[in-house]
Amino acid sequence: MDQAPTTRPWPKPWIAAIHAYVPGKSTGADGRPLIKLSANENPLGTSPAALAARAHAAAPSLYPDPDSTALRGAIGALHGIDPALVVMGTGSDELLHIAAQGYAGPGDEVLFARYSFSVYDIAARRCGAEPVVAPDADYGTDVDALLAAVTERTRVVFVANPNNPTGSFLPKGEIARLHAGLPGNVVLVIDQAYAEYLAPEDDDGALALAAAHPNVLVTRTFSKIYGLAGERIGWATGAPALVDTLNRIRGPFNVSNSGQAMALAAVADQAFVEHSRAHNRAGREALGAALTALGNHGLRVLPSEANFLLVLFEGTLTAEAAYNGLAEAGYIVRWLPNQGLPQALRITIGTPTQMDSIAATIRSLAEAAK
Ligand SMILES: *Cc1c(COP(=O)(O)O)cnc(C)c1O
Repeated sequence: MDQAPTTRPWPKPWIAAIHAYVPGKSTGADGRPLIKLSANENPLGTSPAALAARAHAAAPSLYPDPDSTALRGAIGALHGIDPALVVMGTGSDELLHIAAQGYAGPGDEVLFARYSFSVYDIAARRCGAEPVVAPDADYGTDVDALLAAVTERTRVVFVANPNNPTGSFLPKGEIARLHAGLPGNVVLVIDQAYAEYLAPEDDDGALALAAAHPNVLVTRTFSKIYGLAGERIGWATGAPALVDTLNRIRGPFNVSNSGQAMALAAVADQAFVEHSRAHNRAGREALGAALTALGNHGLRVLPSEANFLLVLFEGTLTAEAAYNGLAEAGYIVRWLPNQGLPQALRITIGTPTQMDSIAATIRSLAEAAK
């Protein structure tokens, strides 16, 4: 098929076509460490109980429990899910990849919305499937556009809710409508990396859908509100057959001893989660209000239900200039030209002091750009 020479190894063409994930940076162009608001990490750090649990994790010379038994039990108890229907991953990243791999391959399509999580494109290509991008609706996920893009080759649909990098949110009725419009052989993956930032009454119903239907998989992570990004822990739930597929291909020892111990303690400390949610809401409202007040300078703040804001720069001050000005002031945020958003900055919600300083810096940059 391909013209690969026999003199050297040759990656599969669908692997060679992948643009590697671009992580949020933590230093400026000159290597100077900056305050990192580029990766949606928890500014409050990690639950003290989880930090303390690290000291009691099983010895590093021993393989971890391959089934993360205690942790799955705790997650099941918290969310009212049979632990047999919870599968752990090395971050939800592993689960997104193996969900694609389990159900799609060469000749199949993996569908997601424009301006959604950049891992979906990689997950599709990695298993040889074709990524298909549905148009957005003013940066939000458009259910009608997704449904219109379904073909007989579609095997997996990814939806992040709330979405990264836009912060947009589909309410329960829209998620149900999306599911109802999909053929039964399509796996709907609802990526709830930011679900814990929602008020409980704003639940999008994804876990209930996963419990009730054979083709819905929900993924969650300990990387965001739980403040355990460095430990790489995610989980998924869905119908028994979906969970069985993921268990066949996940890494056998895919959550470390320290990760299992810390996540177990983190689940038990819901006070830390609630505090983080309230802290985030206040910071998001404050930064949102301060930047919305700069609307006359062409700034537009998209509505967000997550722990970040996507800010569009549609006036004289460009997103690139604001990015550089913020770095000058000691902050690194996410500028997104690689995701088709050269006009946007994604700013993680930090502490009140950091949010004041970000807003003041952008205000002076906007005034100077006039
Ligand atoms: C951060 C994020 C994840 C989490 O990835 P981990 O591998 O669990 O750290 C998943 N999905 C989205 C949309 C995210 O923004």
